[in-house]
Amino acid sequence: MDSRAGSSALRLDVVGAGPAFTDRPGATGAAYLVRNEGTTILLDLGQGSFPRLAGLLDPGTLDAVAVSHLHPDHFIDLVALRHFLRWGPSHPRRVRVLGPAGLADRLDALNAEPGFCAAALDVEELEAGRLILGSLELEAARVAHAGESYGFRVAGLSGPGLVYSGDCGRASDLESLIRPGDELLSEVSFGPGPVPPDVAHLDGPAVAGLANRGSVARILLTHLLMGFDPDATVASVRRSFDGPVQLVEPGDHFIVGS
Ligand SMILES: [Zn+2]
Ligand SMILES: [Zn+2]
Repeated sequence: MDSRAGSSALRLDVVGAGPAFTDRPGATGAAYLVRNEGTTILLDLGQGSFPRLAGLLDPGTLDAVAVSHLHPDHFIDLVALRHFLRWGPSHPRRVRVLGPAGLADRLDALNAEPGFCAAALDVEELEAGRLILGSLELEAARVAHAGESYGFRVAGLSGPGLVYSGDCGRASDLESLIRPGDELLSEVSFGPGPVPPDVAHLDGPAVAGLANRGSVARILLTHLLMGFDPDATVASVRRSFDGPVQLVEPGDHFIVGS
């Protein structure tokens, strides 16, 4: 491992934690900011979450954005980030973006402008495996969801990491990312369950089972679909997982490992 990876605690800021559609005002698309020392990584940037991101930090200072998959509730506010970098304060600036193959083409097509994305975003194709980003290590693993989809682990050189499910239809796909004592930020789209057949998402019992198999220290639940009860969802996880569990909201922040 690269010796630049640091050992200080990770801070997680929940920027957006909503699903693809919802009736909950403020439940904007997936966006999770992870920082330690001087390195800042954003996991996903879904619909409507750019303004809250810009309220937390200067988006031009992001070391990287990692996009889990090509559903708009996970990447579409890259359009706002691109405009900010191209035309906002201190423009022009650039940010590194890691994502599934075809991400830049989608953004260009949406705007009917070849090169739209490349004007401000340095897009690289993600692959399963580990990557050093400043003082953080990002590990990606393929998960069953929609085409090329990833879950992530973010960690410093030592101490627990944060494992993020992205959207995931098979909890066991995340097992390779989890080290004992890690924290699990997991989608729980179908609340207490069950997940309908042939739908690639998770429910509370599936998340709890994964956390137990991986000796996870804390579960942070997110991406709850419209119509599911938050309390019943948390209860469905607590039924078989003894550690701390909560459903996260934008504005929440956590120190991983405390
Ligand atoms: Zn989603
Ligand atoms: Zn999705």
